[in-house]
Amino acid sequence: MKTIDLHIHTNLSDGFLSPVRVVKEAKKIGLAAIAITDHDEIAGNEPAVLEGERLGMEVIPGMEISVDLDGRPAHMLGYFIDYRNPELIASIRLLQGYRRKRNPQIFRRLHQLGLMVTEQEVKEISGGNYIGRPHIAQALVDRGYVHSTAQAFEKYLGNGAPAYVQKQRFSAQQGIEVIRRAGGLAVLAHPFSLGAESEAELSTIVEHLKRMGLGGIEVFCSPHLEEQTELYLRLANNFNLLVTGGTDFHGEWKPHVQLGVGKGNLQIPYSLLEKMKKVHLAKYKLSASEVNF
Ligand code: AMP
Ligand code: FE
Ligand code: FE
Ligand code: ZN
Repeated sequence: MKTIDLHIHTNLSDGFLSPVRVVKEAKKIGLAAIAITDHDEIAGNEPAVLEGERLGMEVIPGMEISVDLDGRPAHMLGYFIDYRNPELIASIRLLQGYRRKRNPQIFRRLHQLGLMVTEQEVKEISGGNYIGRPHIAQALVDRGYVHSTAQAFEKYLGNGAPAYVQKQRFSAQQGIEVIRRAGGLAVLAHPFSLGAESEAELSTIVEHLKRMGLGGIEVFCSPHLEEQTELYLRLANNFNLLVTGGTDFHGEWKPHVQLGVGKGNLQIPYSLLEKMKKVHLAKYKLSASEVNF
């Protein structure tokens, strides 16, 4: 079976491999298509697409952003985006600004807790200008304050922990619009992160998002338990949303999740991408004249 991985981070956000390396690795393990979905960054798409053309590997342009849905955090994936769209580029700059504003506040909190990590050492870990919590977590490990990045999240950086600082975010509506106006398909990533407590609650949320223009649900993803996958599939079918899947690969930053197979057992069929292309691209062509994407 031809398989795909539509949720991959590179070293332009909190992944480990460069976009070009990701494409090479994907080719090596025989994936039929991939998407690069960095947090708040779209610059990995162009080199990945070019490398894909060179190696004969299908690369779907993508992105992942954090959005706010009435106080709930959610991750929104965008596929088939035009990464040269000026409005999208401006939105990404804005999101990067929100991130840059948050990070010094995290460092201040850590310092107040007696944990002396500096922005400079974290930048050395990330290897660039992007600083994400996984990089700060690694700095805490390197300094010996915690045993693992998981413990760093638990004790300090995770939602509700003492050094947690919420980033300014787009609303779900804004996030979906930004993606759609760049010609993209908006997909709800790993729906458990919404923290809904029942199927009925999640169903209401998904219905709400669909009215905002949501086009799909990430049904297959490494952290999903079997019953979650079944639930998300049910919701996608109920609301006539596209089904997508990816590992949420971060390389060494999440060593238990491997490219293409997640924790070892993911097999995401190429047929999902075929359907995404068929439905989304047809809709896009149809509405492009009306909506002025
Ligand atoms: P940030 O975008 O800087 O707020 O960091 C969010 C990223 O941190 C997520 O995409 C994950 O890669 C990682 N992350 C979030 N929560 C945890 C956790 N509890 N344990 C490990 N990694 C996490
Ligand atoms: Fe991440
Ligand atoms: Fe995510
Ligand atoms: Zn992700």
